[in-house]
Amino acid sequence: MKLDRNLIKKILIPILIIAIMAILAVIYNYILIRNEQRNLVLVEAKKEAKVFNEVEKDKIACLDLFTIYGNHLNINGYISNEDVENVDISSMKLVVEDIDCNYDEYNLEFSKEEGKVAFKLSSNINEGIDLNKISDGKHFLFIKLVSTTNNKETYKLFSITNKSKYVKDEYYTLTKDNKNNKVEILFSKHNFSDEETIDYMLIRSQYSTLPNNACDIVIDAGHGGKDPGAMYKEYHEADITLDYAFSLKEKLEKLGYKVALTRDKDEYVESYGNNGRAGIPYKTKAKLTLSIHLNSTASEKSEGGVEVYASNNLNLDFAKKIADNIVKYTDGKYSVNSYAKALDGVYVRTYTKQEVKEANEYAEYMGYAPYESLSTNTPYLFMIREIGGIMTSAYIDGRDKTMSENPYRDSNISSESYLLELGFINSDNDLNNLLNKKNEYLNAIVDSIISNYN
Ligand SMILES: [Zn+2]
Repeated sequence: MKLDRNLIKKILIPILIIAIMAILAVIYNYILIRNEQRNLVLVEAKKEAKVFNEVEKDKIACLDLFTIYGNHLNINGYISNEDVENVDISSMKLVVEDIDCNYDEYNLEFSKEEGKVAFKLSSNINEGIDLNKISDGKHFLFIKLVSTTNNKETYKLFSITNKSKYVKDEYYTLTKDNKNNKVEILFSKHNFSDEETIDYMLIRSQYSTLPNNACDIVIDAGHGGKDPGAMYKEYHEADITLDYAFSLKEKLEKLGYKVALTRDKDEYVESYGNNGRAGIPYKTKAKLTLSIHLNSTASEKSEGGVEVYASNNLNLDFAKKIADNIVKYTDGKYSVNSYAKALDGVYVRTYTKQEVKEANEYAEYMGYAPYESLSTNTPYLFMIREIGGIMTSAYIDGRDKTMSENPYRDSNISSESYLLELGFINSDNDLNNLLNKKNEYLNAIVDSIISNYN
């Protein structure tokens, strides 16, 4: 075939020109994007330099521990004496600062100890920084030392280095309008210059979908299967708790929360292990766990009343709210039980001296070493102790071969956990309420959650 010169002129040359222009446009765009990216990095670096502008270059605060219990981040650390020489500290604060230098301050508890000044955010593990309230983006954490001389306030700003055995944490905010943020607790390095660098702690929050197996709240229906729990007349605790768990799940899901159950039928659930009652809250990254139970007394009839159990190092406001609301909504009453009572309707049960002694004797009898950490400060109920990881002194490590180990006992992130003894099954008044006022009990719990989370 002979090529027509006109065809080349009219079609091929314009195509060639268009192709060359297209390639040039792509290259130009590439350069543009590269420049833009480089500019962004430069802007970011400039902003970060501004954030670190006042930070001490050769002094640092050390972190012993950081924990997340429920929704709250807590920190625990110290500054060595040589770094605070000649500083008369009047207050200490944790500064949480974003890349645009907007910041929040949290008061720190501090005390002078040998060789150092120790600080912590809160003695209550369910207080500290509410991770749901952290805005999107990167936030830098600093320790601010305030001193007052002649009524004049001055301060020093310390960066934070991680001396704990934990490397990072990952948390998902409570589901709201079907949305979640992933919040990471991380450690990094800032360069003052090529030679001068400093460690720092940061919180990074960004939009993320909740992992498939993750949830906000775990509801645990006590007992089940071969373990019917307390019994009275023809009623079994295990049946009532399961019915309540189903309905509570439904109510919370209507509010938009993702809810998981530890059991959804009449079956026996192990306490520990990966799929045990104490393991599910960790596995599902739940922020809150409520274990539903009914009480009973050894004597034939009980006076009845509500008992909400919590760990011994908590702000008890939420537990109190649940107890108060149940009494109010069901026209019920607080339990008359005075043992381990912290407030009306709120109980903090730890091991007694006698129970520690018996546990140690049992260990000897079974041929394993006694648990080193067990003391009168250890929460007694496993649904409170083993769910809270190191914050609540979880200790089931497999040395006792009659039970599975709790693989999450050393975790520094865990669910906030409460055990609700809604009423006494062997109190006619309570039983009547439990059978006829389910909605009131559940609304009491749901309203407590709403007021606690808002
Ligand atoms: Zn029970």
